[in-house]
Amino acid sequence: MMNSPKHTGSHFLLSAKARTVSVAQIARLSDEDAFETFKQIRWAFTDGEPICPHCGSIECWSFKARRIFKCKSCEKQFSVTSGTIFAGRKLAIRDYLLAIALFVNAHKGISALQLSRDLGVQYKTAFVLAHKLREAIGAEVQSRQLEGEVEVDGAYFGGYVKPKNWKENRVDRRLRRNQNGKRRCVFVIRERDGRTVPVVISSENTASVHAAMAGNIRPGSIVHADENSAYDAMHGLYDMMRINHSEVYSDGVACTNGAEGWFSRLRRAEIGQHHHIAGKYLHAYANEMAFREDHRRQDNGSVLCDVLKRALWHPTSRNWSGYWQGNKQLGEVIIQA
Ligand SMILES: [Zn+2]
Repeated sequence: MMNSPKHTGSHFLLSAKARTVSVAQIARLSDEDAFETFKQIRWAFTDGEPICPHCGSIECWSFKARRIFKCKSCEKQFSVTSGTIFAGRKLAIRDYLLAIALFVNAHKGISALQLSRDLGVQYKTAFVLAHKLREAIGAEVQSRQLEGEVEVDGAYFGGYVKPKNWKENRVDRRLRRNQNGKRRCVFVIRERDGRTVPVVISSENTASVHAAMAGNIRPGSIVHADENSAYDAMHGLYDMMRINHSEVYSDGVACTNGAEGWFSRLRRAEIGQHHHIAGKYLHAYANEMAFREDHRRQDNGSVLCDVLKRALWHPTSRNWSGYWQGNKQLGEVIIQA
């Protein structure tokens, strides 16, 4: 367990004592402690000494009272969060640490409403903050190229059509013509005991599946898939192992249980926290649950550190900066094939 940290500039989150971190411990930190932690993690290569985000110079003045820096080369001012996902921040620095702790500790995800109550901030603030964290960790998830033995599978999200009250008014909601066009397929690729990459595609068809696999699985990998005919054409590209789920779930050779297990976690996040995960936000929630899955055995202190590092090393968000002020950059991330 972590002791009360001193005002030394030592970064408590990186110490062995911080392997497990509680929200209460973060809440007891001073904003100065949080500021030092941000400096140490953002500028890890200079041991916490500021680097100008405008020109890259390491010669800077520090204005301690305002926690502002000024570059000696280009003379521009910056803060510890300038040019990061937290650029233009409104909250105290410690509150961002608190937000990350709440986010990391919620294994099934955390809704914006819950986060706003726990942090004591407006719903809109919590909504954007959580999505900025998803963007930062999503960038890492989407940079992966999987290899070795992997499992693939698809599942549908969004586009719920409520059945009509009277039986005679009801339609077959499995048919495309009776759907509302918002239904999407999340296609997941999982290494056995390794990393996870989700991709949103229009449906589990040959062209979409091919595009998703070609972009994320190294040639020469062994791919486990179910009996869906969309995978038939992949036999020429990968060493394919097929399992027919109408007969058996695992025949000792081929198995996609790892991919399906991940879907059940994504479903629980949807049902338990977010209620609807669809459209423009679907890939963000899928990335989040992939990240959670892959770090599930890691202690929460180091996951917190990892998320903070990704947030502070991630550029200012084009999608989420000024989201409630009319920024309409956010679009659906989907492979259309
Ligand atoms: Zn500069």
